[in-house]
Amino acid sequence: MSETHYYGAVINPQERNPREPISYKVYPACLIIVSPVGQIVDMIAQSDIVDFQEKERERCDEAVTVILSSDEFLMPGFIDTHTHAPQFPNLGIGQEYQLLDWLKDVTYPMEANFADPDFAERTYRSVVRRIIDFGTTTCCYYGTVHLDATKRLVDIVRDSGQRAFIGKCNMDREVPEDNLEPSANDSIQATEQLIDYIQNLTQASDSLLIHPIITPRFAISCTPELLRGLSDLAEAYNPTLHIQTHISENLDEVARMGELFPGNTSYADVYDSFGLLGRKTILAHAVHLGDDEIDIIAKKEAGISHCPTSNFNLTSGVAPVGKYLDAGIKIGLGTDVSGGFNPSILNAIRHASIASKVISLQHNPSDPLKPGYNNRKLSVATLLYLATLGGAQVCGLEDDIGSFALGKSFDALMVKVSSEAGNPGLYPGGKEDVDKYLRGMLERFLFCGDDRNISRVYVQGKLIGGNDCIE
Ligand SMILES: [Zn+2]
Repeated sequence: MSETHYYGAVINPQERNPREPISYKVYPACLIIVSPVGQIVDMIAQSDIVDFQEKERERCDEAVTVILSSDEFLMPGFIDTHTHAPQFPNLGIGQEYQLLDWLKDVTYPMEANFADPDFAERTYRSVVRRIIDFGTTTCCYYGTVHLDATKRLVDIVRDSGQRAFIGKCNMDREVPEDNLEPSANDSIQATEQLIDYIQNLTQASDSLLIHPIITPRFAISCTPELLRGLSDLAEAYNPTLHIQTHISENLDEVARMGELFPGNTSYADVYDSFGLLGRKTILAHAVHLGDDEIDIIAKKEAGISHCPTSNFNLTSGVAPVGKYLDAGIKIGLGTDVSGGFNPSILNAIRHASIASKVISLQHNPSDPLKPGYNNRKLSVATLLYLATLGGAQVCGLEDDIGSFALGKSFDALMVKVSSEAGNPGLYPGGKEDVDKYLRGMLERFLFCGDDRNISRVYVQGKLIGGNDCIE
């Protein structure tokens, strides 16, 4: 086992500073030294090739050296804060529906197939491979209600080397018989078994890449008894256990939630009243939140997964991401397959941009814009941030991933923007100003790139996928 030295252009999102706009840095020549266990132990920016060779001589001779070409750069891996592994076979269908009918006619019938663990195994193998090759180094997965199928997903993700949160859906009401769990107690017990399975596995392999996550699908599909039991479970494993669920995606859904929880003041209040809203909670969608809900989510430090492709595709609405950023809420991106029709975070970035432009178009021009993000288009820096560091914060992993820094894990993408990558959508700009060239290449990659441009995908220093690995 030896160090690996990466030398070349690097793009690095910066931590949020409330006094300044979100930004990223570009290093045309940078040396990143990664330890044998995948941790960044040194990072020398603006290093020229002479310094690099000097540095090489100073360190152990056995280091593996990776020198990027002038058409390549390194950036942190993408973080998908919300997707459904069992819905991949439905990608590209169902766009004529809105949420509740889409669940009934498209989604639940597909998820019922995962009662068969062998069907799950076949499906999940290709799902995980595909997500990795699209550059997602950390993924928050929803499984189905089925324990055995979800264990197969855990095994496949572990074998792949991807970083992940994996949860089994909890549903004990308002879903068809073949997706319904027999009781709240059965649902809680199966969830506990999955948590123990993941924890035993990670302890045995000495790897902390996979985290269990409690997954009440949404308030509608869970009885109060189940929500209370899951909250107790989270408390029992405190502080390690995360929670993921949906919130306020669609207006009919919000209305149904109100009928089922007449004693609560809002959707966020339902989760809060059951103790499910906290620093480790990931709330998907958040399209139709009231101001009181924004306040409580900010106060409880829960994170939001912005899923713009799905929000457009199922005609759910447009989430006011700028408003949430101004409120100081942690926010990342989610592909939400198959409400979203594309498993790539690049696609979520594009739709997040369009969503912010829709919001800005709806703003009355006679009202002066206030400082901040609300009612404005999201910048390239903000889009990059949401896909990386923002997602890391939503997952509570910002000290370990989301950007390149000493002590963080090397979760990275090697992006190739030359014509060799075979993507005619990317046209190289002039290289007279290297800084400008790289910023232009990043923007082109975010808006026109695809998996052909992602030549290598690393998690904790280990090469786990990318176009270079496809035979
Ligand atoms: Zn979802």
